Amino acid sequence: MTGNQALIAALARGERLPKEDFIRLIAARSPGDCEFAASLARETALREFGRKIYLRGLIEFTSFCKNDCYYCGLRRSNRSAGRYRLSEEEILLCCRWGYAHGLRTFVLQGGEDPYFTDERVVSMIRAVKAEFPDCAITLSIGERPYESYARFREAGADRYLLRHETASPAHYGKLHPPEMSFENRIRSLHDLIALGFQTGCGMMIGAPFQTPENLAEDLLFMQELKPQMIGMGPFLPHRDTPFRDEPPGMAEETLFLLSIVRLMHPKVLLPATTALGTLLPGGRERGILAGANVVMPNISPEEARARYLLYDNKLGTAGAAADSLLQLRESIRAIGYEPDTGRGDYRWEDHHD
Ligand code: SAM
Repeated sequence: MTGNQALIAALARGERLPKEDFIRLIAARSPGDCEFAASLARETALREFGRKIYLRGLIEFTSFCKNDCYYCGLRRSNRSAGRYRLSEEEILLCCRWGYAHGLRTFVLQGGEDPYFTDERVVSMIRAVKAEFPDCAITLSIGERPYESYARFREAGADRYLLRHETASPAHYGKLHPPEMSFENRIRSLHDLIALGFQTGCGMMIGAPFQTPENLAEDLLFMQELKPQMIGMGPFLPHRDTPFRDEPPGMAEETLFLLSIVRLMHPKVLLPATTALGTLLPGGRERGILAGANVVMPNISPEEARARYLLYDNKLGTAGAAADSLLQLRESIRAIGYEPDTGRGDYRWEDHHD
């Protein structure tokens, strides 16, 4: 066993590592280390979830955004972005379609669109919950004050995805314009957890200026935060952003981080992302084999999918949702797993450190 594999085995036993060890693990990983981590992570996921892979219906309901993140194709300065927002009725149509195909979690994601005031978001949550009381609602609409999050929770939202993007304030400053604040992002995450949302954080792998030390800091940050979900995918450049010429994140590094995160958070809900599937053919399946246990098929209307472009060549922007859902189910079965459309909540009751 190499030194790195001894560290990976220690993580699998639930031990904690100092930052230096994480830096070494990330910076000096070999293909053998990645395979070793993936096999332990796969065992951990099998122990916790069996062969179930949870499917979440993703509805990208607005592509308007008031923010100007340097990496994102939806940034407000991107004048070429196709902007749209779905009406409440259109959102319900997506849910009806998803429900008929068995889905019991709807992820309502969008840019930070001021049109969607707290009142409109509350109305949307109530409408979905009224028609689909047995479904979970996950929101992913960025930073809001505590009071807004409290209203969304009160209206029935169950979960919230808000990637922290990076745990380093200096790195955060290189990815975002000065008016955006690292402190507010982290405050938002703490508020969501305090309000009882099943909360997801996460980061892009291979984001511009990211160092192994930054990733080590992300791992330590998440170890303290104890989120219920962790969203991690590769950074992919978008042609109309300041990062257009930056190299994409590496698939192998993304898979390795998925495995490390699975070992550190055995029960966490961990998606194999669309970005990973875009970077690497069969990437989502490889993500599952590295420890992921969630996939989020896009059930937005086709016209919307073609316009919600965070990065270039995004997977699943053309074709009918039914085809991609069917393909996804088949490809999950082909690697020996079982797509599961149940709510798939985080299992709080047996949570332990
Ligand atoms: N506006 C909400 C927010 O900021 O949390 C939700 C939507 S935002 C587009 C969702 C996630 O997309 C971000 O947290 C970011 O990590 C990811 N993302 C944005 N641009 C990306 C890119 N170029 N490559 C990979 N992921 C990207």
